Amino acid sequence: MRLILLGPPGSGKGTQAQRLVHRYNIIQLSTGEMLRAAVAAQTPVGLKAKDVMASGGLVPDDIVIGIISDRIDQPDARNGFILDGFPRTVPQAEALDGLLKKKHLKLDAVVELRVNESALLERVETRVAQMRERGEEVRIDDTPEVLTKRLASYRALTEPLIHYYSERRKLLTVDGMMTIEAVTREIDRILSAIGAVEAKVSKKAGAAKRTAKKAAEAAPKSRGKVARKSAKKGSKATGKGAKVAKPAAKRIKKGVKGTARKASVGSRTRAVAKATKATKKVTKKRAKA
Ligand code: AMP
Repeated sequence: MRLILLGPPGSGKGTQAQRLVHRYNIIQLSTGEMLRAAVAAQTPVGLKAKDVMASGGLVPDDIVIGIISDRIDQPDARNGFILDGFPRTVPQAEALDGLLKKKHLKLDAVVELRVNESALLERVETRVAQMRERGEEVRIDDTPEVLTKRLASYRALTEPLIHYYSERRKLLTVDGMMTIEAVTREIDRILSAIGAVEAKVSKKAGAAKRTAKKAAEAAPKSRGKVARKSAKKGSKATGKGAKVAKPAAKRIKKGVKGTARKASVGSRTRAVAKATKATKKVTKKRAKA
């Protein structure tokens, strides 16, 4: 499972990512965390990023893309990962597409946590006041002033990603103002629903492919027409198999608002296209023989 968590600073991405890590046995890749570690360790990357981070600006693309590319190659990322805080701009998203393509990896979904910005500011003000009261150290960029700047940066540079991933049928939107538990449940539900649809479609498509192959094999080799006809039947069955998956898609449609619908239907359509292509391949092979 490969996911992106999208949402403004303070929307709970880190908290939800942690929960997904345990649920799906994948790792969390937070560019913010990695950069903070680099700053603390005073590595060359950390030294370059330090001042930009403190002011709430964005670290240059080549640095964050390099960090992510290296991290994805590590063995512990093989089972999947959640990107938290990356990509943050459309050029970063395009770079990620290129990276994943080169590494032959597929992105499963982008989960957007939608929140109310003024509530976020209130939350951070309360948290910072409480931390100061307790004499605890407040993160340098975790103040209402810096948050205001980071929110503006999110709106201008990161929010266009919602459209970017929605167009690519990857976006799932969740109400991030619910309790932590409720948000986790909702994310779980959407992701399981996508998994269920894809698993069902591929199972049915596999069965249809086998039927098509059997039918084609049973046909006398000299009678190409008959073989084609039998295989065609198999191809029809593929269509049926895909339809069987519809109720699962409907379930997602019912519960998930907006773009999530597109995503679920999109994955079904892709799976159907894949299955049909596989069946056609078998048909062609047999017809040739
Ligand atoms: P975060 O913990 O995700 O809020 O990130 C903290 C800070 O790290 C941000 O305010 C940026 O300065 C920097 N940062 C994290 N991720 C990125 C990214 N993908 N692109 C550029 N800068 C980033």
